[in-house]
Amino acid sequence: MPMAHPGGSTHTFGRGGIHPDPHKEATSARGIDDLPAPAEVILPLVQHLGEPSEPCVKKGEVVRRGQKIAEGGATGVPLHATISGRVRPVDKRPHPTQAMAMAFSIAAIPEAEPELEFPEDPTWRARTSDEMLVRIREAGIVGLGGAAFPTWRKLAFAHEAKVDMLVMNGAECEPYLTSDHRLMLADPRAIVEGSLLIARCAGAREVRIGVESDKPDAQAALQKAIAQTPVGDMKVTVVPCLARYPQGAEKQLVAAVTGRNVPARALPTSVGVLVQNVATALAVHDAVRYRRPLLDRVLTVTGPGVREPRNVRAPLGTPLSEIVDFCGGLTADATRMIAGGPMMGRALPRLDVPLIKGMNGLVVLTGKGPLEDGFGPCIRCGRCLDACPLGLEPDQVSVRVEAGRTLDTERYGALDCYECGCCSYVCPSSRPLVQFMQVAKGALRRSADVRAR
Ligand code: SF4
Ligand code: SF4
Repeated sequence: MPMAHPGGSTHTFGRGGIHPDPHKEATSARGIDDLPAPAEVILPLVQHLGEPSEPCVKKGEVVRRGQKIAEGGATGVPLHATISGRVRPVDKRPHPTQAMAMAFSIAAIPEAEPELEFPEDPTWRARTSDEMLVRIREAGIVGLGGAAFPTWRKLAFAHEAKVDMLVMNGAECEPYLTSDHRLMLADPRAIVEGSLLIARCAGAREVRIGVESDKPDAQAALQKAIAQTPVGDMKVTVVPCLARYPQGAEKQLVAAVTGRNVPARALPTSVGVLVQNVATALAVHDAVRYRRPLLDRVLTVTGPGVREPRNVRAPLGTPLSEIVDFCGGLTADATRMIAGGPMMGRALPRLDVPLIKGMNGLVVLTGKGPLEDGFGPCIRCGRCLDACPLGLEPDQVSVRVEAGRTLDTERYGALDCYECGCCSYVCPSSRPLVQFMQVAKGALRRSADVRAR
């Protein structure tokens, strides 16, 4: 059974976790705004985990929005034109997570034809699992919660692993981010339909949608959508979860929503569960029902460094600078930009990079960064131990890394850390515990590689 929080009927995970200030008020009550089509999009060949996409159109070719421009290869996903226009040569361009990467760019031209048409398949509900997988793959869908793992591969693996339950991630526990919240309110029917398709595709017999208690309107919208949807013999429920970080991490969500505990270094499939994000369900619905590829995504653009915080739906490949301009620009005292949320996102050094499939937010902060005043020694207060949801020992890892004993950190859990940031958040000495964990993990993996040679 899911783990009930002693305070009421909400569910949550067991160990660790924190309650950071949510900072969601600037965007949670406002609908999704559509960005006008940009004059140029930049589409990196790597926007997913897997081999890069292979171009299948030539420079100078005029393409229509929705047209495939690169094949996915054996482990990746295809890419599609997200505006109509002329293809420019594939070239190295700034990338949000890699310094530079090979990318298409497409320049809008007045004579280009509009978006391809994607009429409804009248028999979409009758597609087999294999047929759905092909459509999901051809649509270029990856995990839109930030992981960017090709969805077709995750579903095929879940099917092989014989999962019995699909857990939909509507937790959105990262501070500042509200794009999933707004999507659940904007299109709950499509999210429920997409969840059913994913469950059927993976062979699951039950769907549980985990939504945190700070989004009661989304819980109600999904419950209403479930009541209106022909679910057949699938059991579909909304599971209210306590608003607590990192409730949306796969292992914590599975524990909260199903009561099953995923072992260390194992995937949720090891306990019969597949986890998918609600935004991904929406994309799957469009792919199976309309054969519509993934062309746009919704991201939250917010933080004290943004003049008009919003949730924005923008074509993939839109330069972030253009999206920020749409949100009124940066404030004069903006100092730090983060792709994703402030807990697990990545520092972004520039805005001339494109929106990519896995980017669910852009948070701009003001003031000093966490390490600008340096950090102190470990005072052995134990707060990081209490906060770690995996029961690791980041204090021990940190002192060993400082002492140059990085290979002596495995027994304290360095390889299990998924960098949620709870330990750093609570440390009174402002120690960069996540970074220490990253250093230790990198050294341990390199050492294992050397031993394997
Ligand atoms: S929270 Fe910081 S000071 Fe306290 S034990 Fe952990 S590393 Fe040491
Ligand atoms: S970052 Fe790693 S060590 Fe720190 S709390 Fe999260 S899982 Fe534990």
